[in-house]
Amino acid sequence: MKVTDIMKKRMSFSFEVFPPKAEQSMEPLLDTLEHLYAYKPDFISCTYGAGGTNVGRNMEICKAIKESGKTIPVTHYTCIGNKKEKIREELETYLKMGVNHILALRGDFPKGWQETRGDFDHANELVEYIRTNFPEFCIAVAGNPEKHIQAGSLKEDIAHLRLKQDAGGDYIMTQLCYDVKNYQCWVEQIRKAGVTLPIDAGIMPVLSKDPTIRMTVSNGCSIPKELAEIIGKYGDSPEDFKKAGKEYTVKLIYDYINMGIDGLHIYTLNKWQDVADIIKNAGIRSIKE
Ligand code: FAD
Repeated sequence: MKVTDIMKKRMSFSFEVFPPKAEQSMEPLLDTLEHLYAYKPDFISCTYGAGGTNVGRNMEICKAIKESGKTIPVTHYTCIGNKKEKIREELETYLKMGVNHILALRGDFPKGWQETRGDFDHANELVEYIRTNFPEFCIAVAGNPEKHIQAGSLKEDIAHLRLKQDAGGDYIMTQLCYDVKNYQCWVEQIRKAGVTLPIDAGIMPVLSKDPTIRMTVSNGCSIPKELAEIIGKYGDSPEDFKKAGKEYTVKLIYDYINMGIDGLHIYTLNKWQDVADIIKNAGIRSIKE
């Protein structure tokens, strides 16, 4: 079963996790995964350190998800520092493990880099390479509802998204976006530009002040008034901030579902307890406790 087959029938529901650093134990994340499986996600995606840092850990996590038999693993993969030969080897390894879902990305440049230093400059080239050489993969591509921060204009960015569709992308996974009106407007614009792929909406839970500000600002995303008020009001009180942030996230999820999305993808930040509270309050998945 492919993620896109699920999306044809109903809204998919999924999580994202990130691997521990090489020197850290795998146990906490393996435990987190066990808790996340209880919510019967359609897939769990695992991030990939741009430049291939920590790729071993990404593979271990994807393998553990596959071997659990509980859900579909989706690996993220980037162009940064990756030459075709290495890409071929790694993609063959994923397929041997039974991982046939991939999010094909350019990746964020490590500090001081201004190019990928690999064989592909942009995600559309990686998508084309995968589609041509490894047709078994179901390929997701990134979408930026408020424009990728390096793009000259939204129009240009949407034209680049179209290139990823034309190269063989199967569905879009979106960057965090707290402004649902901007999201809706972007969906209208990409459809007008001929982008027809299903869209999996990425939800970044609001759990603490500094990461929320850092992630929105570094991606050039808006902070709507309601979120700004939470930051202003509870910024010095982490407990109150988290409580208000979770309520805000639940409302955001409702807004996205009401808009009519093809998939709901929660960036868990590896914090299963907070995510469990949000899911419970949003009433999207129930489990026996
Ligand atoms: P691209 O599609 O290549 O776009 C990058 C920029 O170049 C954009 O401004 C675009 O408009 C422009 N562009 C695109 N194609 C062309 C072209 N052919 N010619 C000229 N300009 C072009 N990063 C990681 O390192 N690891 C992860 O695991 C990871 N996971 C992510 C998960 C999700 C759901 C999302 C949305 C992002 C994730 N990222 C991750 C971040 C991502 O790598 C960055 O946003 C990166 O800066 C751009 O990646 P992209 O695939 O969108 O690149």
